[in-house]
Amino acid sequence: MTAPPSGAVITGLGVSPGRAVGPVARMPEPVAEPPAGSPPTTGTDPTAQADRVRLAAVRVRDDLRQQATRAHGESRAVLDATALMAADPALLAAAQAKVIGGLSAARAVWEAAGEVAEQLAEVGGYLADRVHDVAGVRDRIIAELSGLPSPGIPLGSRPYVLVARDVAPAEMAILDTSGCVALVTAEGSPTSHTAILARALGVPAVVAVTRALDLSPGTVVLVDGAAGTVRVDPPVRDVTAAFQVSTRPHVFDGIGRMADGRRVELLANVADIAGVKPAVEANAEGVGLFRTECCFLGHTQPPSVDEQVSVYREVFRAFPGRKVVVRTLDAGADKPLPFLRLSAEENPALGVRGVRVAARRADLLTDQLTAIAAAAGAESADVWVMAPMVSTAAEATQFAAACSRAGLVNAGVMVEVPAAALTASTILQSVRFASIGTNDLAQYAMAADRLQSELAHLNDPWQPAVLRLVQLTCQAGAALERPVGVCGEAAADAALACVLVGFGAASLSMTPRALADVAAVLAATSYNDCVRLAELALAAPDARQARHAVRTELPVLGELGL
Ligand code: PEP
Ligand code: MG
Repeated sequence: MTAPPSGAVITGLGVSPGRAVGPVARMPEPVAEPPAGSPPTTGTDPTAQADRVRLAAVRVRDDLRQQATRAHGESRAVLDATALMAADPALLAAAQAKVIGGLSAARAVWEAAGEVAEQLAEVGGYLADRVHDVAGVRDRIIAELSGLPSPGIPLGSRPYVLVARDVAPAEMAILDTSGCVALVTAEGSPTSHTAILARALGVPAVVAVTRALDLSPGTVVLVDGAAGTVRVDPPVRDVTAAFQVSTRPHVFDGIGRMADGRRVELLANVADIAGVKPAVEANAEGVGLFRTECCFLGHTQPPSVDEQVSVYREVFRAFPGRKVVVRTLDAGADKPLPFLRLSAEENPALGVRGVRVAARRADLLTDQLTAIAAAAGAESADVWVMAPMVSTAAEATQFAAACSRAGLVNAGVMVEVPAAALTASTILQSVRFASIGTNDLAQYAMAADRLQSELAHLNDPWQPAVLRLVQLTCQAGAALERPVGVCGEAAADAALACVLVGFGAASLSMTPRALADVAAVLAATSYNDCVRLAELALAAPDARQARHAVRTELPVLGELGL
């Protein structure tokens, strides 16, 4: 494919609002495994090949060290750790021995890294968590040997727009937001974790841009994360105009209320300790979804109870006397927790994930609940606990019993499987609350993988089927007097937030950056208006018309630039 010409606008799905301009930095494709039987380069002396491996490792180490000096925070720490690994004599010696034994240099590095990773995983603890760094070093050395661009997120001293096929959650976690001003991906969808993390970081992002990979490095692009557009070589007047549209500044005062004074709790979604600060700064009333699995992504050994207690305490401490809803581990299709040692599955999104893991590894749930209870006992936060991916009343009952054994009273469920929404009136009898995860609820109701950009139009919480499932859950909650909240990305859409409140949602939990917008729109809208908007949305024949009908009735959105 040829690169889009100057002035061209390529489109995708805007998933994180904001505008930014900068040169394209391409994230290289992952390094492929060199074929097993690949022979050494003919006519080359094995000793010379072994020396090539050493030189490549040295170059990778030096490059990483240099990049680390330009990076900040977590990215710097990761780069330093990876540089150390590149200089690891054990890895080098093993690779060189394999080259002397007849393997190609690239294959030798691949196999040697595999052995080192296995040894680290066996030792366990901190060292086991370095397995990820070994893979990073392996790929970099192989790229160096093969003359390929270095893998991983490129780091520049100047601002850049990151263009990638997709970015894994672990890579997003080290994204250096002082360098990366916007994100454009060829894959992904509004509810993929890449999109969720981009919103949390406040990085404008457009996903599912089919022509993204045709953009050449260095080309200047103007990214509009609300409109979902990428303009190539934008004329100065367009750049000026884009940055002139500034929205009226509004802040959330920390108490969610509607125009008629009715309360709606406005909470933050938090993934890890680093996510606490933005939530506090945005004046969140508390935490409506603490995604605990994000604290342990990539760990090859289960976190100990003590380790968990210290992580949870840090989060609880930031919200004294406030509500913090902790979700137990939700390993999923794109959130790998290697320590669970789950076997490969044909359909991971339909597999052993969320609360289902407890049937295999009850010890992990027990340890986690023990840690949550200990942390809750040591801090003053009002701790609630909920299980992900519940689909039957029996799972809800078992979870509530496990919570009770750990001394946790406020047990609830996430409603993100259609079966749970349809049977909410039974499920809610054994737990105290429900929180609707609209991201997965949309994926499962519409049978559309949330990571598939091609299906993003189906994976939309405005879909009539999804709205009905939300309504059913809220009705069940109202009948049983169990509070029902929403913690999926739908809550961060200010127009949809009104609809959710109209259905009866008592709380909305979202990325901290959306709190001010959602609070401002709710403050301008009465509860009765919300009920009417919910009826309007339900009466629409499809997602597009539902969104349009509701937005037309909310002129405040335009006034706030939303
Ligand atoms: C959801 O599914 O809506 C949800 C909040 O959970 P996650 O996005 O972490 O799967
Ligand atoms: Mg979910």
